[in-house]
Amino acid sequence: MIILSGGTGTPKLLNGLSKIIPQENITVVVNTAEDIWVSGNLVTPDIDTVLYLLSGRLDTEKWWGVAGDTFRTYEAMRSSGFDEGMMIGDLDRATHIMRSDILRSGGTLTSAIRKLCGTFGIKADVLPMSDDTVSTIITTPQGKMHYQDFWVKNYGEPDVLDVSIDCISDAAIAPAVLEALDTNDEVLIGPSNPITSIGPILALPGMREILKCKKVIAVSPIIGKEPVSGPAGKLMHARGYDVSSAGVLDCYQDIVDVFVIDERDTADLADFEEMKCEIVRADTLMKSVDVSVGLAKQMVRIFEGIQVGF
Ligand code: GDP
Repeated sequence: MIILSGGTGTPKLLNGLSKIIPQENITVVVNTAEDIWVSGNLVTPDIDTVLYLLSGRLDTEKWWGVAGDTFRTYEAMRSSGFDEGMMIGDLDRATHIMRSDILRSGGTLTSAIRKLCGTFGIKADVLPMSDDTVSTIITTPQGKMHYQDFWVKNYGEPDVLDVSIDCISDAAIAPAVLEALDTNDEVLIGPSNPITSIGPILALPGMREILKCKKVIAVSPIIGKEPVSGPAGKLMHARGYDVSSAGVLDCYQDIVDVFVIDERDTADLADFEEMKCEIVRADTLMKSVDVSVGLAKQMVRIFEGIQVGF
């Protein structure tokens, strides 16, 4: 199974999936459009969350960084008047340094992440969506800013006028992702931000065409009129989508076979009538590992029920 992931909602589902499927059978294709160089090292927030989750080291209170990490380097720099703009833990920074060293010596991001997977004992194939640099840019009344400047430095507070992905039309799907898509028919789009996490993956040239031929399930990250967390509502609105599950499906309707909405969502199924896919309700609010496992089991059952050639 291939899972398209950002850094929060989908990793929660991945937590459940990795408890019912051998990691060897899981390929995670991760968004890289939020990546940014900080203090000389490439930070890949979504990939790192997936790496720490699958190696059992994720801080699941914050849902980013390494559990029990310290911040001595960050604090030392800050007290010297050097503000990195994001809190980076010491162990987390070690990951960034190792990855960036591979990049500096000419390796691809894919090779760097696979090396880290080996080092961390991860059996799943964790793949950056592309080896090329792409960046999500948020247009605000104050001007354009990188996604990390919008979300971390400015706490997601500026109004959002538009969202764009720099360099996406020249970026290539990572060769390892193409290979995985060649040999896997099941693609799960987790409950991640449809604009800034899944949006960049789908915007890679050729990706939508490939996914049209696959069995695709997508899980909504919106329950009712609100995202479970994060700025998805603001960003969807800026891109002209309704902030609802129907709005999320609007982003995916050309590729999705089954769309999963939360059982608490009071959306009228008539809102989905025009969409050519099946709508399934489930408990998608993953407040515990048990819920994640329950949702993961349901995903596996749905895949078993989707006919090839649907
Ligand atoms: P990011 O990279 O940190 O922005 O993370 P993602 O894009 O992977 O995840 C953010 C999205 O996950 C938000 O839109 C949330 O609404 C959604 N989300 C987080 N937790 C849950 C959950 O338990 N259930 C569902 N359905 N969505 C969730």
